[in-house]
Amino acid sequence: MMVDFCLIYISLLITYINLINEINSKHCGIDFLKIPKRTLLKQEGENRRMLKENNWENLRIHMDYSFIENNIGNFDKKDLIDLKEKIMPKTQEVFQNLLKVKRIQNKLKLNTQSCDNYQIPEIYQTDGVDADLIIFVLIDDTGFFLQNKIEAGAIHCLQHEETRRPIAGYIQFKPQLNVNNSTALDYMVWLAVHEVSHILVINNALYEDYIHPETLEPIGIDKVIGKKIMESGNKMNFIKSPKVLENAKKHFGCDHLDGVPLEYNGGAGTAGAHWAKKYMNTDYMIGDSYGENLISEITLGLFEDSGWYRVDYKMGNLFLWGKNVGCGFFEKGKKCIENSERITSSSIDSNDDKNKSIRVFADIVNKGKHSSGYSTEYKNEFCTNFNYPICSASNIFRGICKLRKFPFKLSKNERYFNNPQLGGADTLTDKCPIAIEDKGDQSYYGGSCRVGNKDTLMMKDIEKICPECACFMSNLSDGNLKQRINDVKNISLNKIKNLNTDSKNSDKDDIKIKNKNNIRKDTDQKAPEINKDKNEVEKSCKTLF
Ligand SMILES: [Zn+2]
Repeated sequence: MMVDFCLIYISLLITYINLINEINSKHCGIDFLKIPKRTLLKQEGENRRMLKENNWENLRIHMDYSFIENNIGNFDKKDLIDLKEKIMPKTQEVFQNLLKVKRIQNKLKLNTQSCDNYQIPEIYQTDGVDADLIIFVLIDDTGFFLQNKIEAGAIHCLQHEETRRPIAGYIQFKPQLNVNNSTALDYMVWLAVHEVSHILVINNALYEDYIHPETLEPIGIDKVIGKKIMESGNKMNFIKSPKVLENAKKHFGCDHLDGVPLEYNGGAGTAGAHWAKKYMNTDYMIGDSYGENLISEITLGLFEDSGWYRVDYKMGNLFLWGKNVGCGFFEKGKKCIENSERITSSSIDSNDDKNKSIRVFADIVNKGKHSSGYSTEYKNEFCTNFNYPICSASNIFRGICKLRKFPFKLSKNERYFNNPQLGGADTLTDKCPIAIEDKGDQSYYGGSCRVGNKDTLMMKDIEKICPECACFMSNLSDGNLKQRINDVKNISLNKIKNLNTDSKNSDKDDIKIKNKNNIRKDTDQKAPEINKDKNEVEKSCKTLF
């Protein structure tokens, strides 16, 4: 998609800390699903030679809703409509555009009785369908998902005999999806795209079945998974397949990277089926996420390395987490934040106690950059303005650099503060503080500049929500802030470039900045690299659905 320019409004930060909000993150249920035993199904009238010679064509996914339709009395009809007409068609579209497969020769038939516990309808055994993958769409009717705050889970159940590519799987949602607006739909589609990726390529039971795309022979688990013992003594697996490694080396700027870590926190399913959040935060395949869901080239590399798919790299997003950080980012014992001023930690610890207070906009204006005495080498990834608002890594949402007092002492390698119970609120980042989006009184994205309801913004006059909006720091006072907003309305991407990356030349720009000194390019917050080259501009402005 060619984007001539991105209209970007400045979503200015306000200091707002809610009363203990529920953190807005997705809850993937793969931990609770049974890892399937490998079941290979032969397809009629095809042989290995045919499969090798087949062309790569767009992936066709057939969604089956018969479980919900046949038990509709147990469910809200709206859930079925939301899934059938909104969430899953958009999810299908994403993968159809993103992936190509070597299609099977005839109709896809599932010559077996069940997919995990689900009884496969007869039609798939007799007639078959024109598709490369069948997904059974289910809703949990046991209450388990609701009780455990699981939103969805998915896994494959049947694989193609020759290629071992998954040809059937199921996705299960919690009941009461409540897709009442575009924000909720965006959230649910990302959730479904994440879950379907577990069926397609990323889960513990599939890595050993990755094949060479030409020979169709398995490449072997040793070529896909590496293992390490971390400083903490915990085991960590990493993906080292060729394209993942190549793309990761380029992305992180680390030539001797040995692989991309898989999650080592969380349960067994989370651990094997997601990227480690500390290193891959904001990619859509981490164990939980806030308002940033990006399809990185590293994840696309994994699809390619399976041997089952060819990917369209143009469909990827601009992924900035860890961009060009170098090998030090992965070094054992490297702390994400460090106490740089030897200040007493009591002031930081007390921040946690003040967490219940609502700080106002004037606070940040008066204080300027809030200093905690801590610093980080990785300013785009980790934050040190504890319990203050900050922009997220890709400037997509306004979050909080949230600390939390845990009810237990943190392990030594997760300790950054004198108080051994204090750490970053996110549990999948080794307690490294990151921008965390709070739900507040909204159901889904609590600080997103791109999706949400404007009525819920704290500063309606100056904050905007739009598909290409971004979050920036500013210490402008309210009066000239409004003037500033008027000034930057309808400016082109080029002008945004001057505004954000070259303040010295901003006078020459036809954006009239009333008081240049009031514009602070916050040194802790890198402006998004939206103007590096045309390709990246396209990526930064792209929305998938
Ligand atoms: Zn997941």
